Amino acid sequence: MPDKFHDECAVFGIYGHKEAANLTYLGLYALQHRGQESSGIVSTDGHNFNVEKGMGLVADIFTKKEIRRLKGTKAIGHNRYSTAGESNHRNIQPLTVNYAFGHLALAHNGNLTNASVLRSELEAYGSIFQSDSDSEVIVHLIAHSKGESFLNRLIEALSLVRGAYSLALLTEHEMVAARDPYGFRPLCLGRYKDAWIVASETCAFDLIGAEFVREVEPGEVIVVNDQGLTSHHPFIVPETPAKCVFEYVYFARPDSKIFGNYAVYPVRKALGRQLAKEAMVPADIVIPVPDSGVPAALGFSEGAGIPFEIGLTRNHYIGRTFIEPEQSIRHFGVKLKLNAVPDVLEGKRVVVVDDSIVRGTTSRKIVKMLRNAGAKEIHMRISSPPTIAPCFYGIDTPTQKELIGSSHNIEEIRKYITADSLAYLSLEGMLNAAPGRNDHYCHACFTDQYPIPFTKAEEIQLGLFDVNTSPR
Ligand code: AMP
Repeated sequence: MPDKFHDECAVFGIYGHKEAANLTYLGLYALQHRGQESSGIVSTDGHNFNVEKGMGLVADIFTKKEIRRLKGTKAIGHNRYSTAGESNHRNIQPLTVNYAFGHLALAHNGNLTNASVLRSELEAYGSIFQSDSDSEVIVHLIAHSKGESFLNRLIEALSLVRGAYSLALLTEHEMVAARDPYGFRPLCLGRYKDAWIVASETCAFDLIGAEFVREVEPGEVIVVNDQGLTSHHPFIVPETPAKCVFEYVYFARPDSKIFGNYAVYPVRKALGRQLAKEAMVPADIVIPVPDSGVPAALGFSEGAGIPFEIGLTRNHYIGRTFIEPEQSIRHFGVKLKLNAVPDVLEGKRVVVVDDSIVRGTTSRKIVKMLRNAGAKEIHMRISSPPTIAPCFYGIDTPTQKELIGSSHNIEEIRKYITADSLAYLSLEGMLNAAPGRNDHYCHACFTDQYPIPFTKAEEIQLGLFDVNTSPR
């Protein structure tokens, strides 16, 4: 069970446009980077629910004919990527059910830390689960609720779950968006003509020409129906939110705004500039690990006054290395994805900038590749601190023991990746580069300090409980 609770996802929802499904398709297309394993769209005309789901990329799953079949002026969609657990058709979102109060569809980005406990309790009361996903717990809690309106049932359900959720929900007559009180994952509100839209990131709005209105606030529930939009704040919101800083470091698209009116690209560049301040090294060129390392490398080059070059070319037609499940394939995957440019590298002292080292496999391959292409010195610079702990809030990270930073110090990692030098950005440097207050971010993957204390049951669900060591 614990293995199955690691998702990376995107959500999208639209209320009030006759091309709702088509616009959802485009929104999901723009949000493809948040999940490449499966996708789904659910639409409604106020009576029936139309559903299309499939494994793979958005562009491959939906045909024109299927989009046309998705009738109605309201729709929600979801992209999903889960390495752990089975890649199973049943787990594709939006989840759809037909229960006592009608139809319901749910799309979830995030991860519920107490899903196991709730699932066991619900099963004890007779719930029959259709998927392995933590998100389904929310659907069952809604169905069990005695609340009079859908809003009340949803609020009751959400008051029982713990962890991260950015949700888009659809009933016959309303679209609802909700974000957990800590605001772990982003969720944005937009307007397209008379329609209201929600999306994980604003790049989905840009593609369809929608206007970004504001973020859905931590702990906020937004209901859109024929009477318009209403905002509700039913939950106690903590003094300090826990926005995921890794969204800025790696996950969100650089052209997006997330967590308010803050664009990702300048933050990534600032991370690189700060890295140059902290870990300067004499060199001839700065090169990025494309694509995710590009803005930080530009920032480093600017900060260090060292020319920026493209020393690695990326083949864009291959999924992320991370997707490959087997270590053997992952090694191969790096070669498939990246190739060195010898003319740029020959005889040069090279600074290589990447956003993170997870297992260390990619960096090791890259250093070897650069060396083979003639680089004289290779200085690896990482625009975030060492990744030492798994994420339980919706970023897919390996288990703690697979994270090289959790068991090796920086010198040991340098030796493993065979670089001439290795330096990471400091925690403070990273948080200073991110917008707003430093204590408004979750940085558990870098510090092992999780913003919400885990209960014993959660520790078991999350695989943190080990009888041989004292639990965290
Ligand atoms: P590794 O070989 O495991 O050290 O992979 C490091 C690379 O994976 C870096 O270039 C990152 O850009 C990328 N990366 C980091 N975190 C993730 C993630 N959660 N999903 C996919 N790729 C990631």
